[in-house]
Amino acid sequence: MRNELMTAAICWEIGAKISVEFAYHAKDLFYFCPEANCLAEVVPAKINNAFFRALGSHAPGCANEKKKTTESPVPTTPIFRKSTVPPLPIPSHLGPIAMPRKGIRPSEAQMNALALRSRLAPLHHPGTFQEVVNAWCSMDGVSARQSHPLYIASQPQTYFDAFSPLSHVSEEGALNSDRKILYGNATVSDYNHSFYVTTKTRFKVGEKVLPIKIRVRSSDVLYPYLKDGQEVILFLHGLIPALGKYIEIQPTDAYSGMLITLRDFSSLAR
Ligand SMILES: [Zn+2]
Repeated sequence: MRNELMTAAICWEIGAKISVEFAYHAKDLFYFCPEANCLAEVVPAKINNAFFRALGSHAPGCANEKKKTTESPVPTTPIFRKSTVPPLPIPSHLGPIAMPRKGIRPSEAQMNALALRSRLAPLHHPGTFQEVVNAWCSMDGVSARQSHPLYIASQPQTYFDAFSPLSHVSEEGALNSDRKILYGNATVSDYNHSFYVTTKTRFKVGEKVLPIKIRVRSSDVLYPYLKDGQEVILFLHGLIPALGKYIEIQPTDAYSGMLITLRDFSSLAR
C-alpha cells in the first residue's frame, strides 16, 4: 500500500496552495488541508522529506488522511512502508515569495472559499534562477512551456513568455532582463588565462554592433567547466551592464546572474 506524503496545502496568509518546501521555511503561517469536507489544520514537518502533518486529524475519507498500514502476515516483522516521494514541483515564482504577516485565523467559511478558489490554481513554489532554468530546459516543447506559470518580480507570465531569445531582444533594441530570462547561443573562447563567452546575437550600441561578451576569470566557479571552442547556451537574468569590450561576471545571488548549459541543455559539469 502506498503512503503518499502530503506535499501541498493552502496557506491562509498567502491565499494560495503552496508547496511544503516553501512552508517548511515559513512555519508560523496558517496552513490547512485543501479538501472541501476536511480543511484540517496542518503543519510542515520533516522526517526524510518535508510533508504536511495534520495537527488533529483529517476528516474521515479525506484524500490526505493517513492510509492504514498493510497488515503484516508475520506480526513480529516490522514493515517499513515505502513513502512515495514526489519529484520537486516546478517553480511558479523566480525569487522568494513575499512573506506576509501572520493574520487572524480565518473562519470556516473563509477557508472553504479560499480552498475552492485555490483548488484549480497552480501550486505556489518559489525557485532559484538555476531551478527555473533547469525546469525550462527539461520541459518538452512549446506547449509545456506555455502551460506552466512563472512569476518574475510579481508579473504573471508563462515559462514560454518569460524566456526571451536574445535574437528577439536584439530587434527590440533594449537589453532588459528585469522580468525576463534572456537566452541565446554563445561560443567560448580562451584568451590570456580567461574564458570569454560571446553571444552570436549582436546589439546596436551607438555606432557599434556588439555581442554580449562575458569574461570568466580563472577564479570563477564556472572556469573549470569551460573549454576553447565550446558551443553553449547563455541564460541571463537581472542587471546587464552596458555592453563594451566585455562584461565582467557580476556578483549575483541565487535569483539572478548568468548560467550556461551545453547546446542540448545538459549541464556543463560532467
Ligand atoms: Zn484533509
